[in-house]
Amino acid sequence: MKKEKTWHWYFAKDNELLLDLDSPAKVHYFRINLAHAINRGFLPFKDAYLYPSLRPKHYHAAVILSRPLPAAERIAWELFLQSDLWRGLNDLVRAGGQGLPSLVIATHEFEFRKPDYVCECKGKHSRKMDAAKCSAFQQVKEVKREFFPRNLDRVKARKKRSPVLKFGRLSLRSILRDRPKRKRG
Ligand SMILES: [Zn+2]
Repeated sequence: MKKEKTWHWYFAKDNELLLDLDSPAKVHYFRINLAHAINRGFLPFKDAYLYPSLRPKHYHAAVILSRPLPAAERIAWELFLQSDLWRGLNDLVRAGGQGLPSLVIATHEFEFRKPDYVCECKGKHSRKMDAAKCSAFQQVKEVKREFFPRNLDRVKARKKRSPVLKFGRLSLRSILRDRPKRKRG
């Protein structure tokens, strides 16, 4: 039975951390790092939430702070707490340039507040989406297509225990080797 999906758009308020955790291992380190931050009194912690994302083994987390923090600090905390790095980088660039905070588009509604926007798009939101068809996208004028991170999921964690690079100066070739050159025909 397929239910009509509602996407809940949350832009982080200045006392919220919104995280994408893209594996169970990330949830593990999220907990460890959060415990560390709370125990040491580094983070003005108030409350935390965890939900499954639509994708298997992906999760959304929210951490509510007891006082507001600047956007860049919040994003740094999101990254320390294992949120997706590429998303964090994009958030940071936007925070500097436009003051736009982290965005999570979730199938669930977070318990702590109503979403900023909702839409009922059929698929996931991506760079390739037709923005004109999304009611939320239409309301959020500041959001550009670039808001959606590139999908880096193809880069899977390697099982190798030793570093996959040789020590010393790293040649560009050794860095770029995962992207094989196309044969010219
Ligand atoms: Zn939409």
